[in-house]
Formats: sequence, C-alpha cells, structure tokens
Amino acid sequence: MALGEFELIRRFFGRRAAQHSATLLGVGDDCALLRIERGTDLAVTVDTLVEGVHFLPGTNPEGLGHKALAVNLSDLAAMGARPAWVTLALTLPEADESWLSGFAEGFLKLAERYGVDLIGGDTTRGPLSVTVQALGIVEARRALRRSGARVGDGVYLTGELGSAGLGLKILLGEADIEAPEAVARLERPEPRVQAGLILAGIASACIDVSDGLAGDLGHILEASGVGATLEWSRLPLAASVRHYMVLSGDWAMPLTAGDDYELCFTVSPERERELVRRMTDLNCACARIGRIESLPGLRMEKDTRILDLAAMGYQHFSSGN
Ligand code: ADP
Ligand code: MG
Repeated sequence: MALGEFELIRRFFGRRAAQHSATLLGVGDDCALLRIERGTDLAVTVDTLVEGVHFLPGTNPEGLGHKALAVNLSDLAAMGARPAWVTLALTLPEADESWLSGFAEGFLKLAERYGVDLIGGDTTRGPLSVTVQALGIVEARRALRRSGARVGDGVYLTGELGSAGLGLKILLGEADIEAPEAVARLERPEPRVQAGLILAGIASACIDVSDGLAGDLGHILEASGVGATLEWSRLPLAASVRHYMVLSGDWAMPLTAGDDYELCFTVSPERERELVRRMTDLNCACARIGRIESLPGLRMEKDTRILDLAAMGYQHFSSGN
C-alpha cells in the first residue's frame, strides 16, 4: 500500500519528543514554534516548489518568485506570526540571467511589502526547484495551532474558494472558461498576513488552505479531536468558479483543489462579533462556513442532504496522485 505524505512524516520524522526546552511545537502544524526569549516565540516553516509538480514547466519566473515566498508567508499567517526573515535555496538547471532577474524581482518585491529580509540560502545546479524557509515572530501563547478548535466554534474562511483550482484547470486546458483572475490567483497568491495577525488574538485554531479545504480543515479536526459540518450555501465561490461547476458538474473542485492560500480557522461564539468587526476594518472578506461538532469527521450540508467529505484533499505520495 502506498504511504501517504502525512503518514510518512508522522512515521519517520514526527515521533521524537522535544529535547530542547525552547521547542514548544515541532512537526505537525503550519510552523514550528521556538521560545526565543521570554514573551516571544519564533515561528519557522519551509516549503519546496518543484517544476512539474508544484508549477508547470515554463512558468513565468517573476510569478514563481512571488509564489515561492507567498506560500511560506501563508504558513506564518496561519500561525498568526509576523514575517521577519527568509532563506532561499535554489536549484537551477542553468544560470539564465533574464530568468534570475525576473525571479528575484517577484521574490524581493513581496519581501519588501511585508518587511521581510532575505538573510541567506544556497544555490546548486540540477532540476529546477525552489525552497524557501521563513521565520516570523509571535507573542508567547498567541500562536494559532491546529489543535485549538472546540465544539460549538464557528468554522471560517477568508476570501474565496476554488479560484486557484479553476486557474490550474484553465492552464491545463481542462476548463474552457475565460477567467484571468482565477489564473492570477493560482500564479500570484496573496498571503493573508494581516488577517493572521488579527486572528492571533481571536481564533481558536487556524490553517492555510494549500492542499484543499476538505483535507486542510481535516488536519484541524484531527489535531483538535473534533468534527465539523459545513454548509454548502455558505461557501464563498467566485462567479467564474460557479460557472465552471455548472458547466462541468464538478461541484467538489473548490473543496479539493489546492493553492488558494486562504486561512481556514475556528472562532468561539463569544468572539464572533469581534472577529467580524476586525475583519471588516481590515477590508478582508471572511465567511462562516460551518460549525465544529463532537462527532468526528467532516460533513457537508447540501440541498437538505448531509454528505461525507472524509478523505478529500491533495496528498503527495498517496495512491492516485
Ligand atoms: P504545510 O502544508 O502547512 O506547509 P506540510 O503538509 O508540508 O505543512 O507539513 C506538515 C508538517 O510536517 C509540518 O509541521 C512540517 O514541518 C512537517 N514535515 C514535513 N516534512 C517533514 C520532514 N521531512 N521532516 C520533518 N518534518 C516534516
Ligand atoms: Mg500550511
């Protein structure tokens, strides 16, 4: 039987107890948390983008530079951490100056917008892949873990779902729809850094949607020992995504497609008004899409029926991928 990505990580790299007293949180969340001094924690994450797996061959280098950093800032946002430093490990088939200049432009422009310093990295020759490590700062005990969801909490989502998934289908020629904004969402995701900073004082659990809502919310449910039911009619979907669903009949796409980099989080009923006020002030779209329940698993209320959404989501190494 093929070994799934998350089972692989758990089995071979996730079973050691922390040996250092400053290691608050290790393998298994959007970032690790290290107590660097009293009152301050460091959030650390690393992600790799491989040509042909995470982006199509020939992808515009400027967009790729942006995205390589954006996906890491998104993991910091999911912890409620303020981005501070990044390192960049590049593996390149050749040193193409025009490619490098575009890549650096996309990467450094985004870094500048969020006040992040590029402090080091590594450059090697080989098949194109980009690894970025990001470090951010969060006030002690305020980091948003996946394990804090409680029965009765609302399940929320920033922005819209499925646009990046539609963008990928368009690039692959699998959707005959004119939707440049969906392709832009795939190629240049905007990390929800400001929203994450606000949520650090409000949400009970948080994850960024990188592998699809069903799978990523599943991580919160598993880590928190709870379940959830989502309401289909509350899912925030762009008009082009609705159009695609009507044309194709593929209603599950927004739940399973990755790359949206929105934040999915849970908030207790007492904090909901404050959440809505703060997100409105930030001008950040934010929808309540369901509720946390004690019954394990992920369900969807759709047209008076309850559908089981277990085991939806993207996993590297699992059979079928
Ligand atoms: P995300 O999608 O938020 O970037 P991942 O799904 O990549 O998170 O990883 C899940 C968890 O497993 C994270 O805590 C990550 O740091 C950890 N992890 C992944 N691969 C390894 C590895 N080879 N060794 C140790 N930890 C790993
Ligand atoms: Mg993540």
